[in-house]
Amino acid sequence: MASDNVFSQQGKLSAPLLVSAITFCVLLIPATMLVNYLIHRYEHSIIEETSYRANALVAKLEGKIDANIAVGRGFDAHISALGGLSQDDLAALAERLIDPELNIRHVALAPDLIISAVYPLAGNEAALGLDYRKNLRQKQAALRAVNSGEIILAGPVELVQGGGEQLVARVPIHLASSDLWGLVAIVINFEELLADSGFYSLTAKYDLAMRGQDGLGALGATFMGKDVLFDQPAHIFDIQVPGGEWQLAIAPKLGWHAPMPVLIAYWVIALAICLLASFIVYFVRKQVIERVAYLRRLEELATIDPLTQLTSRFQLNKYISHLIDECERNDQGFSVLFIDLDHFKEVNDGLGHAMGDKVLVEIADKLRSRIRPYDVLGRLGGDEFIIVLKDVTNPADIEKRVSYITEGFSNGLIVSEIDVAITASVGVAVYPGDGDDAEVLIQHADRAMYESKRSGRNALFFYDVTMRNEAGRYLELTKAIKQGIAQGEFQVHYQPIYDLRKEQYTRCEALCRWYHPEKGIIPPDQFIPIAEQSGLICDLGLSISKDVFSCYNDLKKQGHELNFSINRSPQEFYSPGYTQNLLESLNESGVPAWDITFEITESLFMTGNKAVTENFEILRRGGVNFSIDDFGTGYSAINYLRKYPVETLKIDRSFIAELGISAQAETLVKVIIQMAKTLGISVVAEGVETEKQLDYLRDMGCDYIQGFYLARPMDKAAFQAFLLAQDSSSHSV
Ligand code: C2E
Ligand code: CA
Ligand code: CA
Repeated sequence: MASDNVFSQQGKLSAPLLVSAITFCVLLIPATMLVNYLIHRYEHSIIEETSYRANALVAKLEGKIDANIAVGRGFDAHISALGGLSQDDLAALAERLIDPELNIRHVALAPDLIISAVYPLAGNEAALGLDYRKNLRQKQAALRAVNSGEIILAGPVELVQGGGEQLVARVPIHLASSDLWGLVAIVINFEELLADSGFYSLTAKYDLAMRGQDGLGALGATFMGKDVLFDQPAHIFDIQVPGGEWQLAIAPKLGWHAPMPVLIAYWVIALAICLLASFIVYFVRKQVIERVAYLRRLEELATIDPLTQLTSRFQLNKYISHLIDECERNDQGFSVLFIDLDHFKEVNDGLGHAMGDKVLVEIADKLRSRIRPYDVLGRLGGDEFIIVLKDVTNPADIEKRVSYITEGFSNGLIVSEIDVAITASVGVAVYPGDGDDAEVLIQHADRAMYESKRSGRNALFFYDVTMRNEAGRYLELTKAIKQGIAQGEFQVHYQPIYDLRKEQYTRCEALCRWYHPEKGIIPPDQFIPIAEQSGLICDLGLSISKDVFSCYNDLKKQGHELNFSINRSPQEFYSPGYTQNLLESLNESGVPAWDITFEITESLFMTGNKAVTENFEILRRGGVNFSIDDFGTGYSAINYLRKYPVETLKIDRSFIAELGISAQAETLVKVIIQMAKTLGISVVAEGVETEKQLDYLRDMGCDYIQGFYLARPMDKAAFQAFLLAQDSSSHSV
């Protein structure tokens, strides 16, 4: 059992772990894809940014070059119209045409390809007189410009006069006659051009290289940066320059790939998401499993009663509902038995709850052994059982089955070597007559069971409609009685009992009355049975007894020492605790036990209940007298008198009423008196209403007389007055 639990426990725990591990693995695939995507996006953004920057640089370079060369067109227009310019003319024109924003280092005029004037002259004097046709480095480019008639940008090239590598734009100029005039060379400061185009601001982030010297594109020499850049994974852009093109190679210094820290960050985030997701899955899974286990346990509890392993209320309801459907189709019926154990509370209180549980288990077994395999047995809780008898609807059949079923335990039950005799009150509701709904059928069987309790328990009752109202009245009264006890609405009346031999009142009977605040005085017949069913009789009995003890003491003070009879219900003999309470309050009151008589009925001895016998013995040992009330109406099986000795028999008033009318009653009364005398038991005749009855009884040798003929029951004050009056008159009856 224990290892079972461990295994199932482990099984429960490994499932969420496995599921979360699978989740992690599965999530790794989209996570990898996501990381790849992000890296791709990152690298794409590098490319995009690089090409954006490169394009911007290209555009600026081209724009700047164009702007510088535009100055050449100004000279072209001037010279072709007016012819050559002197050094001074050049200076004047150049100052007008050359915007300081441009990158023009100097301008040289070369009519017939020989430089004749330079602006500014300072620092460029060495250029004067340069014959392009004779200069190896520049001849070719100069001739290309002349031959093509287009502006040709050469360089960067080392200037003759020094001053570093610069760009030279040669503008071929023709006169109006279309004859070649010569060339105008515009020398552009290369460094300045690059700086103005934003070239150097890129070098922090990018490796840059430019080739295509003299506008020769891929064939031209590399004049900026490292040549190898063109052979590496770099982006190459064309820069259109007059008469040719340059190429720009660009590559990010950190390379085209996402750098390591970015890669690590992406993977850390992706793995964290996977882990988080699998953790969530783990916890959710765990919760779900626990919840399912919890619900399963609840359902188990709901379907099976853990103590007796019988079907529970929940499952019973389901079964009955199902059976109703089935019976409806097949036009059949069934009966629901509501079985409630009698005085189970006393068993529980007297023997302890553990023992009570054992008794329930034992009774469940007995019930199970006495039903057919297709009947259903369930426990509603406490000492309430339900049996559903399929196809049994006839009252006679039900009765037969119920008595067979209850005989299983009512004839005696041995639990842990203790002999317990338990009876049951049974209520029956039959489908379809008594309801067509599981809940209703159980309710009606329950009501019928209550009727069975009311009748004195250990009986079978069938549900009938009037019970519904009865049940309501019962609940109402129970509540009122409880409240009445708390508020002292119950009072004791006393009826004197005359001793025929001593010729005086030596005894009395205490009879309870309910002084209801609205309904007035209610006689005991109307509330005692309900107090008995509801168990309130014990509270009531104790309170009555206390009143009686105090009345005894008050009368004693007045010199009247009477024996007081108190009526005791069978329910008052089931609890050892209650018996103890009674004896204690008797002792506390100081009333001698021999002056108290408990009136019981024969049926008490017939229960055969162990607790009853024990409590009876305890009270006897306490010195209390016992009287059998209503004698003659019950079993009159006098053999029990040997086992349960009593001091007095009280002949039921129905026989007394018949005296002088029915010879049979007369004989019976005579026999009872004779028998009692033989056994040494005194006899009280109750319900004596006439002088004639009294005479009969006196003749028969009856010991005591009680009845309206002598006195009615009266309240305490009246009773005291009655006794005082008796003293003064001291007449005999
Ligand atoms: P019981 O023990 O047989 O009490 C005698 C009943 O007969 C009383 O009715 C009494 O008033 C009535 N009675 C007395 N003399 C005559 C007579 O000459 N003619 C007629 N017709 N009746 C007479 P009561 O007081 O209504 O009590 C009814 C029953 O209620 C009692 O019957 C007793 O069983 C029960 N009872 C009364 N008080 C208590 C109580 O404190 N505890 C318990 N457990 N039962 C009580
Ligand atoms: Ca009585
Ligand atoms: Ca009686």
